[in-house]
Amino acid sequence: MNDKHIMHLDLDTFYVSVERKIDSRLKARPLLVGGTSDRGVVAACSYETRGYGVHSGMSMKLARQLCPEAVVIRGNAGTYSKHSDEVTEIIKEQTPLFEKSSIDEFYADLTGMDRFYGCYKFATEMRNKIIKETGLPISFGLSINKVVSKIATGEAKPNNQLLIDYGTEKSFLAPLSIKKIPQVGDKTYQTLRHLGIKKIHTVQEMPQEMMINVLGKNGSLIWQRAQGVDNRPVVAFNERKSISTERTFDKDTIDIKKLKSILIAMTENLAYQLRRGDKLTACINVKIRYSDFNTYSKQMRIPYCSADHILIPRILELFDKLFQRRLLIRLIGIRFSHIVSGNYQINLFDDSEQAINLYNALDKIREKYGDRTVVRAAGMEAKTIGRMHNPFNGLPPVVLAHRKQ
Ligand SMILES: [Mg+2]
Repeated sequence: MNDKHIMHLDLDTFYVSVERKIDSRLKARPLLVGGTSDRGVVAACSYETRGYGVHSGMSMKLARQLCPEAVVIRGNAGTYSKHSDEVTEIIKEQTPLFEKSSIDEFYADLTGMDRFYGCYKFATEMRNKIIKETGLPISFGLSINKVVSKIATGEAKPNNQLLIDYGTEKSFLAPLSIKKIPQVGDKTYQTLRHLGIKKIHTVQEMPQEMMINVLGKNGSLIWQRAQGVDNRPVVAFNERKSISTERTFDKDTIDIKKLKSILIAMTENLAYQLRRGDKLTACINVKIRYSDFNTYSKQMRIPYCSADHILIPRILELFDKLFQRRLLIRLIGIRFSHIVSGNYQINLFDDSEQAINLYNALDKIREKYGDRTVVRAAGMEAKTIGRMHNPFNGLPPVVLAHRKQ
């Protein structure tokens, strides 16, 4: 007996839709959003460009060559964050339990609503409300769990909806490509294709052990997803969900250079934690405690971000605003909240492929040798800010242990 009704919502070609909302002349024209220099990267592209072989993540130079008639627009993280918030507000008003899983994706648990309303009717009305009030196209899938609904949304697109009736999950998935399973990345896809596996149906018929032999633990997960099994709950979106770090000094200090150096190191480290978990923050907070134990903090809403070079100046700006009393400082700390999943390319509209590669390279070194192996020169004075484990790992972010030193 099924008792779950999980809805997945995904804004269609989100950045493109926002640009078209702002300038209606862009409707029906092929559109590329991203870094506009030759070294920039495509962050989003309209459906019209896809026939030319354009996809997000490719270099803007190549995309322009493939689709010369496309209009190219430099993305704006602030504008997209604002529109994302508008949609979030509507979903928050309408549903008792929802999860914002990325800047343009949501899950809502509608379980229980069927008794007095009918989930599909409710979901349809919510989608219409979002489209009417924000002017942005959005698609949804509705089924008994997250993975089936997410795949259903993908099948519904563009700008449509799909209900998968209870009991039909397996037959819905069977004819689809294994690529549609979220856990199947490029590498896994190639491995499975070499084994002659193309459709989800084939995986459904295989013994689970065979998938485990080929792909290990991930194979077991993929096998379950192929059967339409997913027990992950919808995790409530909580704006207080955060990661933080702070330091109490043995000896109170007023050495501004040292304090800023520590803030830089802390920001670098938390930003790395965000990137490692494919997360973005939209709210940053700095806290100071003076030697008289009075504590002050200041926060700032920012466009979704996980790039140190954007976060550091803002953290320092908050500190400058906050540090008003010329008193010794006993503790400083920073916190990132309003965390959602998302790729940090969103911060790199102005930057090049090289900048993205640099972040990737530095993060690989941190992954391998420890998270303080590469640091900004300005943050080097902070000898230790505490080692952390990946706070995400598929789990909701946790508040990191506060360290004394
Ligand atoms: Mg989307």
